Amino acid sequence: AKARGRDRSERFDEEMRAEAMRLLDLEADLRRAIQRDAFEPYFQPIVRLSDGAVVGHEALLRWRHELHGSLPPSEFIRVCEDSGLIEQVDWLLYRKVVAWMGRSPEGYVSINVSPRHFHAEDFAERLLRIADDAGVDPRRLRIEITEGALLDDAPRAARILNTLRGHGVLALLDDFGTGFSALSYLHRFPIQALKIDQSFVAGLVGETHAESLALVRAILALAGTLGIDTIGEGVETEQQRQLLADLGCAYGQGYLFGRPAPPVEGRGAGRRPSRV
Ligand code: C2E
Ligand code: CA
Ligand code: CA
Ligand code: CA
Repeated sequence: AKARGRDRSERFDEEMRAEAMRLLDLEADLRRAIQRDAFEPYFQPIVRLSDGAVVGHEALLRWRHELHGSLPPSEFIRVCEDSGLIEQVDWLLYRKVVAWMGRSPEGYVSINVSPRHFHAEDFAERLLRIADDAGVDPRRLRIEITEGALLDDAPRAARILNTLRGHGVLALLDDFGTGFSALSYLHRFPIQALKIDQSFVAGLVGETHAESLALVRAILALAGTLGIDTIGEGVETEQQRQLLADLGCAYGQGYLFGRPAPPVEGRGAGRRPSRV
């Protein structure tokens, strides 16, 4: 029994080592990708649910990998965040986003911000500066942050958001409903819209529909009371679109309206309909 115990712990050590090596590899790969300028934004439309009009886009990070093609963040964002590389990657990406906005003069674009560099002292100034350098009106930029990022250091978060709002950069609260959702804090921050997490939108039909429906109703009621817009995430079916619209959710985003797509020059990106 003792021998087997040692076997097992040795095997465990090996697995840990393999996992560590894999992550190290990925980190080295990421550093090379930064050098090679291999990160790019894809854009996904955000639409008004009543008539399908495109009101803006969310910029989503993609890694143009030499071997694996275009990789979504699920494959590498954790390593980016844990290694601190996310800050570099995001700023590279934001520059590309505003450059594209300069060539595509309509609608807003929302960018995702990692909690960690949202709290950097000069985040707001830096963002405003790259918009200015690209000749882009900051009122066309929005940032997406999570509840965790707000509550981490609430006074500082409020300062940053107020600075940005002063220049017309609005804030969206991402993945709403999955985090702390201590609703009492909401009114203390200048939040333009809540993005209802896709798990609730997916849950609207099927087994969990009663709970999801109750949750989405509660979120919409709260947002309505506070005068905050709502965007349903992960809308994949007409049934989900209809339900959200009926419940009073004004905006939506999801494969039903368009998948994240590489930038299209001269007009809104991700515009081509992609019903599958
Ligand atoms: P998120 O901000 O919640 O982004 C929405 C995710 O849902 C995106 O995944 C998008 O491709 C996916 N999605 C959109 N419509 C649908 C749909 O109808 N059905 C389903 N099943 N999924 C849909 P993606 O692009 O893989 O991004 C994953 C996460 O990575 C994002 O979640 C965000 O937290 C993070 N992320 C993405 N881009 C950036 C970035 O530039 N910077 C940082 N820091 N994080 C980013
Ligand atoms: Ca987002
Ligand atoms: Ca989200
Ligand atoms: Ca997310």
